[in-house]
Amino acid sequence: MTRGRIEAALNEAHIPSLMCALVHLTGDASMLTPENCPTYDFFGDGQGNLPPALQDAVRQRAADAIGAHLAGTPLPPPPDAATVRRMMDFIAGADIPKHYVPFLMEELGLESADPKRPEPAPVKKRVAIVGAGMSGLLAAIRLRQAGHDVVIVEKNADVGGTWLENTYPGCRVDNPSHLYSYSFEANHHWPAHYSTQPTLLAYFRDIADKYDLRPLIRFGTSVDAAEWDEAAALWRLTLSGQHAGSIEADALISAVGQLNQPRLPDIPGVGSFKGPAFHSARWRHDVDLKGKRVAVIGTGASAYQFVPEIAADVGNLTVFQRTPPWGGPTPNYHDPVTHNVQWLLENVPFYEKWYRFWLFWMMTDGILPFVKADDAWNGPPGTIGAMNLELRNALVQQIGLQCEGRPDLLSAVIPDYPIGGKRSLRDNGVWIAALRRDNVQLEQTPIARITETGIETADGKTHEYDVIIYGTGFKASDFLSTFKVVGRDGIELHERWQGDARAYLGMTVPGFPNFFMLYGPNTNIVVNGSIIFFSECAVRYVVRALGMLGEVGARTLDVREDVHDVFNTRVDAGNARMAWGQPGVSSWYKNATGRVSQNWPFALVDYWAATLRPDPSDYELA
Ligand code: NAP
Repeated sequence: MTRGRIEAALNEAHIPSLMCALVHLTGDASMLTPENCPTYDFFGDGQGNLPPALQDAVRQRAADAIGAHLAGTPLPPPPDAATVRRMMDFIAGADIPKHYVPFLMEELGLESADPKRPEPAPVKKRVAIVGAGMSGLLAAIRLRQAGHDVVIVEKNADVGGTWLENTYPGCRVDNPSHLYSYSFEANHHWPAHYSTQPTLLAYFRDIADKYDLRPLIRFGTSVDAAEWDEAAALWRLTLSGQHAGSIEADALISAVGQLNQPRLPDIPGVGSFKGPAFHSARWRHDVDLKGKRVAVIGTGASAYQFVPEIAADVGNLTVFQRTPPWGGPTPNYHDPVTHNVQWLLENVPFYEKWYRFWLFWMMTDGILPFVKADDAWNGPPGTIGAMNLELRNALVQQIGLQCEGRPDLLSAVIPDYPIGGKRSLRDNGVWIAALRRDNVQLEQTPIARITETGIETADGKTHEYDVIIYGTGFKASDFLSTFKVVGRDGIELHERWQGDARAYLGMTVPGFPNFFMLYGPNTNIVVNGSIIFFSECAVRYVVRALGMLGEVGARTLDVREDVHDVFNTRVDAGNARMAWGQPGVSSWYKNATGRVSQNWPFALVDYWAATLRPDPSDYELA
């Protein structure tokens, strides 16, 4: 590897991560001074506002050190704990609170490639998992590593869940690729900074193959009901489809996700349209949109991605907007990860670790204060605190630049609710650019009804279309709506919930022994991080809970009602203090009762700490 080649790669390096990697390469931490510390740069070049001269100096030093390393110079002894702590504070640009340190150390993974790998279980259990998406596959991997027997029931013909079902044009994850992967299966070769759906589907398919999970999966099969048999202390599942019949398991894990039942809008006439009409999660690839008059209903995360993709192709496009979304500036949203960057991630020791750590901090708990309500706040409408206002002002300015010369559009696309009230999207300019096109109209007049030939708006006008696309989201509040779960004393889970799903830590429900949910109630995150992190925490907890049964010689665990209730009271109070919990804000985060039943209101570190290992006193063990 020539010096020139190394320098070319370093021109694309993330400098704060490189500065930390340099400590591993040289043993010298003298550059990590408070003056050199990166700061939050929502709108900058992604280099933490470090001055160009410092960036150049870091690149020079790195070129020397990497060259020496590649030539065979051994690494110095690893940095001691105090230095690692200093490095964390440095790259985060913050004095990271003490309780974060063990959590972040684990995330950083300096000492082990897989610090969350489970310990062997004392007693082997038979575990049934419903769903072979991201969290179901993860659960299967970890349970098998612990020594349990696993069967997965999957309604689809393949693995991948949401990344199998959502194939609409432009579908991609809105979390950085280097975060949106299993912690133990980092990928140095992500082709894009934000992975596209085909890339993610391929990733999960590869995982299923690598861990030999396919033989465990009953594809094309649905769980219709799961019933607890008290005498035998097991779950009995009734299956339909390809593997119709029944199976028994000591423990049951739902990994069906929150966002897999498409929701058509509650608009009169839905279903009466004679032309093709489909939901974004059931994209009709057989319908050629070229030159057609197309209506899109909804401006959420899905529409925000597919509208820019189809706008140039269709004849005419009307986007029906009820509420505009907030979008956070993300210039590299559609950018490929260059060979240079891939080379750095793969070849510079610890560079990938610190890059992931930086993303982890910047995109997760570091951002939470911006969406937290200040009780004493008396600022302008649509804001909930000084930081929220500061961010709003910055975003409004960015939107203003994109809407130059289109005051009509500007007034339509600035939300009146606080940032964080709904899912914030990734803005690299393509959304507003699409709305600015001559063949695209943003329609804000409410829809009165859908007719055989198009859409009638509340002002009495009729609009004719060839195709209607529903970007109207999912039945997110209807947790586990596809199957019955009958627990102790014949009580069915949905009867207990009455439309208001609750669980302890999103996982366990009183009266439903040995039953766990992944991505269950109150485990969704709005701004801070990747759901894979949550699933990894939850799966560790489940595996340890099953291990706990073996350790204490019990067969069942059933969460105590008081523990469950205290937890939910705390969660509700937490959500009330967040942007999404504010009274005037409506979204799929709230259920029909108005309660936020989807979101985790606290920091990631709090979920990590709460799920580290089950507390036996939270459960009735028998
Ligand atoms: P969504 O965010 O729930 O958006 C639904 C849209 O449809 C909203 O604009 C909503 O307006 C509108 N709508 C619903 N009913 C309507 C009606 N009766 N009349 C007019 N408009 C109506 O759904 P989504 O876009 O499918 O996204 C759902 C979630 O999936 C996201 O929040 C995200 O968590 C996830 N997702 C993630 C990605 C990603 O990672 N890249 C991509 C897509 C989706 P209101 O806002 O006024 O209700």
